Amino acid sequence: MKIQDRVLQASDDTDFITLRTICPIVEDNEMDLLPAIKDDMLKILESSNARGLAAPQVGLLKRILILKTNMMQNILFMANPNIVKSSSMCLYYKEGCLSLPDIRVTTNRSRQVTVEYFDENGTVQVKRLGGIDAVCVQHEIDHLNGILMTARGR
Ligand SMILES: [Zn+2]
Repeated sequence: MKIQDRVLQASDDTDFITLRTICPIVEDNEMDLLPAIKDDMLKILESSNARGLAAPQVGLLKRILILKTNMMQNILFMANPNIVKSSSMCLYYKEGCLSLPDIRVTTNRSRQVTVEYFDENGTVQVKRLGGIDAVCVQHEIDHLNGILMTARGR
């Protein structure tokens, strides 16, 4: 498993096909590759002003994402994330995306979500995220299902 050192662009025909692909899960025998993938994805995230990055955006078709959270001021790396609970209360937010750099889309997503995932050590974690962090994780999980923010709002 290897990532590209550039972010795929929705405006490029070949990249677009990759971005629209539903990503398969990280298998048990791939878990030991996660620390290296976290390092590589973190580098790309830090070199941008983005809050999050999904593996397919850097050409890796696997259910992996990384987030810079606002409230906790830390980095969350998630493999096989799964939203197990989401609030019916929603939040309007103007989203951006590294794969759609010229576009802002106002979406209406759950204000609070609980996510179950594996961290980079292959340990199961459960995290409750709210506000912008909740919006961000929903945006990144959409990427894992081949869904871009333009499908979620206007
Ligand atoms: Zn995005």
